[in-house]
Amino acid sequence: MRVVSNIATMQRLAGKWRCAGMRIGFVPTMGYLHPGHLSLVKRARQAVGKNGVVVVSIYVNPTQFGPKEDFSKYPRDLKRDLKLCRDAGVDVVFTPSDQEMYPAGSSRRGDRTAQRAVPAKFSTYVIEDNLGRVMEGVTRPTHFRGVTTVVAKLFNLVLPDVAVFGRKDWQQAIIVKRMVTDLNFPVKIIVAPTLRERDGLAMSSRNKYLAGDLRRQATVLWRAIQTARATVKKSKTVPASKLKAILKKLIEREPDAKLDYVEFFEPETLLPMAKVARGAQMALAVFVGKTRLIDNAQM
Ligand code: AMP
Repeated sequence: MRVVSNIATMQRLAGKWRCAGMRIGFVPTMGYLHPGHLSLVKRARQAVGKNGVVVVSIYVNPTQFGPKEDFSKYPRDLKRDLKLCRDAGVDVVFTPSDQEMYPAGSSRRGDRTAQRAVPAKFSTYVIEDNLGRVMEGVTRPTHFRGVTTVVAKLFNLVLPDVAVFGRKDWQQAIIVKRMVTDLNFPVKIIVAPTLRERDGLAMSSRNKYLAGDLRRQATVLWRAIQTARATVKKSKTVPASKLKAILKKLIEREPDAKLDYVEFFEPETLLPMAKVARGAQMALAVFVGKTRLIDNAQM
């Protein structure tokens, strides 16, 4: 397994593979890997075969964090990640630096109120202008701009044929698919299932923050999903407002849990549904203590 940090080296390598007719499978991550990430690696390998190459990027992308979010304390453990990648049969781990990805002066906050040019060596962003306005986009207004920008950059550096994203971040996957279609990236997007802990909590690097009883309380997201599913199964259609009220009550029975949002929507367009029936997508975000967790599932 090769570790590449330099972006020109990565792009050159990818160009060579493409010239040689090798298929490139790509899994972008922020590291602190868990079995959920590794299931995406497996899916990428399946897609490109044993003669293809699988690239995993490990990059905590500053532009997708808001000014008050956990960028600096986001968990990092490159040594452990490299071992997990090696064991999973990854060919190249790409670990670009902030200095190369966003040369001096890019603003993490993305202050678009400035009326004049400011000294910055990075000032081009990719903005999906519709699907990113709801749910995560409400609480985290510059988040998806950071995601689409970094994913576009990574696609230009890794030149993948196939890229694998997790269902865990449903809205993100839908937005990336839209970006790829709208901007004609020659990349096939695969969306792979969410891996969960035994008690249903979706695996996430941020679960590390859940100390003591918070870890138990965090299972309330999965319990909310199950409650929603059971209610829909029993009643066939349920008004979204009624279901949301039931779930908010359930969630906030946990002493440290606070609902940010729960939404029911059409899976591909993200359009809200007034009546929830089988096939509807549900997504929720919950603060458990100071940690913000998200999950989603189909009804
Ligand atoms: P992250 O490192 O959190 O940015 O995630 C990198 C990729 O892994 C994203 O496409 C996520 O949706 C995906 N992912 C994160 N958690 C899981 C999980 N529990 N199961 C499957 N995929 C996941």
